[in-house]
Amino acid sequence: MFDHPSFDAHEGVHVFFDEATGLRCIIAIHSTHLGPSAGGCRMWNYETGAQMLTDALRLSQGMSYKNAMAGLELGGGKAVIWGNSHTDKTPDLFRAFGRAVESLQGKYYTAEDVGIDVADIQIAGEETRYAAGREDASGDPSPVTALGVFHGLKAAAARAFGSDDLTDRKVAVQGVGSVGGHLCTHLAQAGAKLIICDVDREALTEVAKTTGAVIVQPDEIYEQDVDIFSPNALGAVINETTLDQLKAKVIAGGANNQLIIPEMGELLRRKGILYAPDYVINGGGIINVASEIRGDYSRDWVDGKLDALIATLEQVMDTALSEDVPTNIIADRIARARIGRG
Ligand code: NAD
Repeated sequence: MFDHPSFDAHEGVHVFFDEATGLRCIIAIHSTHLGPSAGGCRMWNYETGAQMLTDALRLSQGMSYKNAMAGLELGGGKAVIWGNSHTDKTPDLFRAFGRAVESLQGKYYTAEDVGIDVADIQIAGEETRYAAGREDASGDPSPVTALGVFHGLKAAAARAFGSDDLTDRKVAVQGVGSVGGHLCTHLAQAGAKLIICDVDREALTEVAKTTGAVIVQPDEIYEQDVDIFSPNALGAVINETTLDQLKAKVIAGGANNQLIIPEMGELLRRKGILYAPDYVINGGGIINVASEIRGDYSRDWVDGKLDALIATLEQVMDTALSEDVPTNIIADRIARARIGRG
């Protein structure tokens, strides 16, 4: 563990196994410098346990940075459950997960992420006080994530094109699930021309019907002749192969861990592509969850924090452009300083 490339001084890495329900779960706590750790739970059918561990470590470090950049009094943590979210979910599995979260006595708050919906969190919440994003409180965070991504995308467009007007701007959206779907609605309302892809035909058809988007195959999305590329599916989509294919001038999307390695930020900068760092632009969901964790959900508080988040994103992009440094490096610098690891 201590030699793992993604270890980065995690405060705790907790492994849970429950024979009765088949729960296999890792809860990684990267930092509690700013407060109790918080981050969603991901359910994914990993090929190996090693892949699962790497995902947990990278995602929880990302939550430390994200919560810091969103100005929240929360540290970074993440839970991953090994399994197929379409076939392996049972109420007992989520009760076992809830007990695992509860055993950490408030050092980690869970919520929704890929593969986990509000109903799952509601069940886990029968066993723990430390589950947020419940049906009867802040609910699904993805509409707020999408709203933050939409405003962040406009802020990036303003810097790349001299205007944040999206009328007739071509945007390629990868993944039209919870975040990508809501984002497409905002973009279409703002007059953008959408090109979308997903591996889920049903979601694609629905979004294309309501937004007039053109559908392409998943492997064709990078090479589209568009102004903006918006990744809203999974991580590591900006890599050596896709970099050569990209024609967009802006990358702004909700997916976590978009760069396969941090050095991709410099390669994007050299190619003249403005990258809105993922953990800054996608902080809206955790802001929504944080309002519930504070004990008294308030949409006004959430909107105020969202405005501050976009101002932080603008600061990151302006500093990066004036210093000729990649945006992800500037964001990391600010985030690490805020969590006392500068
Ligand atoms: P989701 O599961 O609802 O949507 C993801 C979509 O991506 C699905 O429709 C899926 O079919 C599609 N997809 C999977 N593989 C694909 C591929 N190869 N090509 C194209 N599409 C593919 O998840 P979500 O909640 O919308 O989250 C999307 C991303 O945003 C994730 O990286 C997540 O970690 C991140 N994120 C989500 C939130 C939130 O509030 N939900 C907050 C911050 C970050």
